[in-house]
Amino acid sequence: MTANNNSSPQTTGKLVGITPQGLYSKCVALANNLWWSWHPEVISLFRSLDPIRWRQLGHNPIALLHEFTPERLEIRAAELVLYTRIDQAYRRMTEYMTARTTWARRNVGVLGSQPVAYFSLEFGIHESVPIYSGGLGVLSGDHIKSASGLGVPLVAIGLFYNQGYFKQHLDIEGWQQEEYIDTPVQFLPLESATDQKGNKVTVEVQTRSGTIYAKVRQLHVGRVRLLLLDTDLEENQQQDRQLTSRLYGGDNRTRIRQEIVSGIGGVRALEALGIRAGVYHLNEGHNAFAILEATRLRMERDGKSFDQAASEIAQKTVFTTHTPVPAGHDRFDSSLIDEHLGPLREQLGIDHGHLMALGRVDPSNSHETFCMTVLGLKMSRYANAVASLHGVVSRKMWHGLWPQLPEEKVPIGHITNGVHVPSWMAWQFNTLLERHMPTSWSAESYDPKEWEAVHDIDPGEFWETHCALKNLLVAFVRRRVSRQCRRRGEADDVIDRARTILDPQALTIGFGRRFATYKRATLVLNQIERMARICNDPDRPVQFIFAGKAHPADKPGKEFIQTIANLRNDPQFANRFVFIEDYDINVCRHMVQGVDVWLNTPRRPLEASGTSGMKAVLNGGLNLSILDGWWAEAYDGTNGFAISRGTSHTDDTVTDKRDAESLFDVLEHEVVPLYYDIDEHGLPMKWIERMMSSVSSLAWRFSAHRMVADYTTDAYLPAAGGTSCKVER
Ligand SMILES: *Cc1c(COP(=O)(O)O)cnc(C)c1O
Repeated sequence: MTANNNSSPQTTGKLVGITPQGLYSKCVALANNLWWSWHPEVISLFRSLDPIRWRQLGHNPIALLHEFTPERLEIRAAELVLYTRIDQAYRRMTEYMTARTTWARRNVGVLGSQPVAYFSLEFGIHESVPIYSGGLGVLSGDHIKSASGLGVPLVAIGLFYNQGYFKQHLDIEGWQQEEYIDTPVQFLPLESATDQKGNKVTVEVQTRSGTIYAKVRQLHVGRVRLLLLDTDLEENQQQDRQLTSRLYGGDNRTRIRQEIVSGIGGVRALEALGIRAGVYHLNEGHNAFAILEATRLRMERDGKSFDQAASEIAQKTVFTTHTPVPAGHDRFDSSLIDEHLGPLREQLGIDHGHLMALGRVDPSNSHETFCMTVLGLKMSRYANAVASLHGVVSRKMWHGLWPQLPEEKVPIGHITNGVHVPSWMAWQFNTLLERHMPTSWSAESYDPKEWEAVHDIDPGEFWETHCALKNLLVAFVRRRVSRQCRRRGEADDVIDRARTILDPQALTIGFGRRFATYKRATLVLNQIERMARICNDPDRPVQFIFAGKAHPADKPGKEFIQTIANLRNDPQFANRFVFIEDYDINVCRHMVQGVDVWLNTPRRPLEASGTSGMKAVLNGGLNLSILDGWWAEAYDGTNGFAISRGTSHTDDTVTDKRDAESLFDVLEHEVVPLYYDIDEHGLPMKWIERMMSSVSSLAWRFSAHRMVADYTTDAYLPAAGGTSCKVER
């Protein structure tokens, strides 16, 4: 007989048989798999333990739990009646982790025993794991979350940065300051990866200037393991210990050293862990050295020649390019290549000229540097761009590699990017949809028919939900802007004004992205007086929320930030333009969930895809964008707004002027009138209709589940030796 038989759940709020230690362990287990990061009910559990500390600790559940003893946690759980919720969350996670009926199991079983090895230099999973800088990283994070959701067997490989990307703040002049902060590594859900004997795995990569050692750490992202190589080891030369400290922090030599660690070291890590990859997916050229190491392994194991092994590895390799500008591709000169690839090349039995030729468009041109994208394109069976228009641009850009083919036959296809819906759709919006959509619908379904019912939702409720989210955004902006003012040491009245900045009723336009000059953040100021009139119309006001980082070396980008940020000193714009510092996943989430309009003004065709606009779609935000990247294929005349007609002039200043003219016209004649066309019930019915069209026509199409399913059927399956087939959605 046990003592607690007569304490029933009803009277104590506790579950029979759970000790404080047991409860604590369940919370720790939840915190240790990033599965929690896309489950609002688990996030809300953590938050409710201590909402203030939750925010102060950057939404990091391990750091939060560290502040609780099991006994204190039990008391808190009893006060808030959390036992059942913790138990249910834990049970849901366990069921998810052990599920046998996934999409992949039903459709692509052949991938089962030999997973996809997915290489990327950054992964954006959650703001509390700072190993990403921007779009590429968030895309990788969304990719592996959806691979987990669909049950696609996949192991991800990247680098562990103990400082990550810089933190941004602006000084009193509005100039970007960069700060690198040591990540509190002990509060990340990191483990050491161990081999079959239980030993911690380290890998080494030889160069002509010494061996680089890396330990292999791992994170769990649902069912996906993410291996992260970290060179902070005593065995390393001093300079190499910091090799993986920062993302995009160093010169070209640092870059190639990072890339041999992630590419060559990455393949060695898989080998040491006993993981036999069936497919290599290289997300961007950074990791293309992986192909060479995989080739070496095959030569060693099967006694093949270089040519034969390389062509067999190419058959298993999928390469994704992301950069529509020639200057954006990694290039290394001959001496850097020899210093870092020389030892591996000798094992491959090829000479330096042969190796260089693999990275050259024209193999015989000894002046050409070694381009990682060229290596990836030459040594993969399937290459793709990340949107339809980007496919056109990429085929043109790399035509030189296949001069005998007409441009449209250049073998670079496209799979348009998508975003992980459960990570980006506000739970309030998800709840609304769940209540009104057919029972078969879930946020993760990407069957267009399932989304048609969005139009049947009560417009009043739809609008109310959006307004609630917009209010949350305004509250967030006020909090952040007043904090920014305090940090800069502004006067009390300035801080007070920040607490009431923005008008929750006004048409609110968001712009959050990297401040690269081709994205033209300042296009909205091209006609400054016209903008002042638009913003300050007493009956139909318009306001803007900006955020984004400029690369530390990008002075013109920083000047754009300064121009926008300093509008706060201009009485015409002080309450109409705000700049939120330190754009990251958290800032992005608040913005895309609350804005009325998401603005994108790249100089066409330089935006490969863009994904933030897709996140706005998931929350009812309408895109107002140049017809570039994903928007060029998404816009249908009823689901958002287009700036210009998809043309550009050879002279950038002419293009900019024309695009600005169109932007102002669309704002004045379409966006503002539609938003303020309010019926007798106080609802902007035509606007709501457009929101619904946007959700129903785009949410499924630009979801990461659709994207990963496309990769799986069109690229992974053929690469793994299966054939492409028609599979259920
Ligand atoms: C989604 C996201 C991006 C990518 O947005 P783009 O539209 O490609 O500019 C960049 N940074 C963060 C933090 C994001 O969440």
